[in-house]
Amino acid sequence: MTSVRIGVMGGTFDPIHNGHLVAAAEVADRLDLDRVILCPAGQPWHRAAPPVAGVHDRFAMTELAARADPRFTASRVDIDRVGPTFTIDTLRDLRAGFAAHDPETSAEWYFITGADALDQFMTWKHPLEIVELAHLVGVTRPGHGLRNPDLPDGRWTLVEIPALDISSTRIRELLANGDPVDALVPAAVAQYMERHDLYRGGPS
Ligand code: ATP
Ligand code: MG
Repeated sequence: MTSVRIGVMGGTFDPIHNGHLVAAAEVADRLDLDRVILCPAGQPWHRAAPPVAGVHDRFAMTELAARADPRFTASRVDIDRVGPTFTIDTLRDLRAGFAAHDPETSAEWYFITGADALDQFMTWKHPLEIVELAHLVGVTRPGHGLRNPDLPDGRWTLVEIPALDISSTRIRELLANGDPVDALVPAAVAQYMERHDLYRGGPS
């Protein structure tokens, strides 16, 4: 039986940016992952306000960004599910889809998350089940200390990655001010945002 190592990165991706992509690529390099699946959230459960861009645009930008690396793909798994997006469902659905599609291949699953999200991990729905379904990988992020989550040993890893001080919030603010964001997102994502007039309506 062949075996693959699959990373999963969830996020609002409003919009996806180079910080997400560098984190995914670095973890793939370090942990020798064959693929990384980027999963834009349908309805992020932990946010007070809904995403600024709709699911269609956030998915389209994620697909464009995924072209940056042959290991990356974008998945609709979280935007096609009704209701708030929980990582436990992301992993269950991806694993079930993989097993149905590729029953001859065994897979090891890794869930990649930044230090800010990792800090909240124990408040997520079913955290102990999440780490049964995927090895948790926390990555460094400027402005956020990397603290050890209170999880069983052997189910999680902290990885130091090159710091990219980029956030979607900052990108939305720059665009609202009419400032360039070309250094912060892949060129295809910058073009998409321009063409579809995204994030021009004011800061959020
Ligand atoms: P926002 O400012 O809207 O919250 P964001 O930049 O934090 O956007 P998210 O979609 O919230 O992006 O993040 C998705 C995942 O990517 C989270 O696990 C987050 O910690 C991680 N992440 C985002 N930006 C970085 C970065 N620059 N370095 C490392 N991890 C990051
Ligand atoms: Mg965030």
